[in-house]
Amino acid sequence: MKSEKTCVHFRGIQHDTCLAGVVVRSVRVVPEKGPYRLPCLPVIGGGDIPNNCEQRRYPTAEEVAADHAMWERAFAAFAAGKSPCCDAPLESRGTARFCSKCREFVGRECGAEDIGDGAK
Ligand SMILES: [Zn+2]
Repeated sequence: MKSEKTCVHFRGIQHDTCLAGVVVRSVRVVPEKGPYRLPCLPVIGGGDIPNNCEQRRYPTAEEVAADHAMWERAFAAFAAGKSPCCDAPLESRGTARFCSKCREFVGRECGAEDIGDGAK
């Protein structure tokens, strides 16, 4: 899910480069320790991180809202037993759920509270 403090080009630390072609290691915040001290990501516990990257762009409020709405639709479909991709019924293989139409992996059943209405 997109966050206000995650660069739009970030695609995971398993990749050498981000979507803007920047070598992720090259923008690590030095001398701070730890592989995840990147200007691409929010700081755990809050606060700001020095920005080493000329390409960093945070999503706009509209982009964050659209992303959240997409996930809400996906969770609602899943909770209703339908695939977010096609609205087709879900198929079960163990705890995994697949779209019965396009065979796309959709998610896992791991307790109703995980996909429920968020009540707490
Ligand atoms: Zn589908």
